[in-house]
Amino acid sequence: MEETLYHEDSSLAARKRLDPVGGEWCLFLDVDGTLLEIAPTPDAVVVDDSLKDLLVHTRHALNGAVALVSGRGIAVLDQLFAPHRFAAAGLHGLERRDASGALHVAPVDIDPAFEAAREALAGVAEALPGVLLEDKTVSVALHCRATPQHEPVLRRLVQAIADGLGPRYQVLEGKRVLEVKPAIATKADAIRAFLLEPPFIGRRPVFVGDDITDLDGFAAVEGLGGLSVAVGDRVDAQLRVASPRDVRALLSDLSEGRLAAP
Ligand SMILES: [Mg+2]
Repeated sequence: MEETLYHEDSSLAARKRLDPVGGEWCLFLDVDGTLLEIAPTPDAVVVDDSLKDLLVHTRHALNGAVALVSGRGIAVLDQLFAPHRFAAAGLHGLERRDASGALHVAPVDIDPAFEAAREALAGVAEALPGVLLEDKTVSVALHCRATPQHEPVLRRLVQAIADGLGPRYQVLEGKRVLEVKPAIATKADAIRAFLLEPPFIGRRPVFVGDDITDLDGFAAVEGLGGLSVAVGDRVDAQLRVASPRDVRALLSDLSEGRLAAP
């Protein structure tokens, strides 16, 4: 069953749903569309100081148990949130920096077939005006935020290219973005790995996300007795907030102890 928080139902009763039972929270946060409003291009997002301060404050309140879980690379996340560095999973789980700062990278061999697919995806981006190619080395994303009318044809072309790569690769479909990535690691894998380590271990996980690419993470935290929180109306979760602004309200409540265990 799904409940709505903040935008329609800001009652204490709904918020109480977030009270941890028999433990403390740990928090996993998608970035684009969750902490940040989606911008016309990936580079155009803005991370204001108040959000950075709030994340630092929340991390302190949760004894360090906050991690970003994004499709962006960790190096890009560090640029966005500078001067702060958070525990993070990047590239949809292909890389992970734990709370001690150690980096864990999934062993991905880039084979000639993927190089050919990279070329083909670049050709697709060239052929469709307004489609932007984001080459993350181990994966390639095609964005159509500026020209969403291209999304159906883009989906068809990208899927056809990915099909040629076989089961070691998958297509992740997000909001106005399609990404071909190795299937070896996911956001769910990253969350499960964090939960085996301090300061996350023993805490009840909350994962906040906004997109299809977050569904496996939702399932992971739900399966571990945690909570999934959807932002906006693209995907379903156990709880829902309307917008990144409401996510900030949620973080604020967590960091101020308003959602602490009774
Ligand atoms: Mg997102």
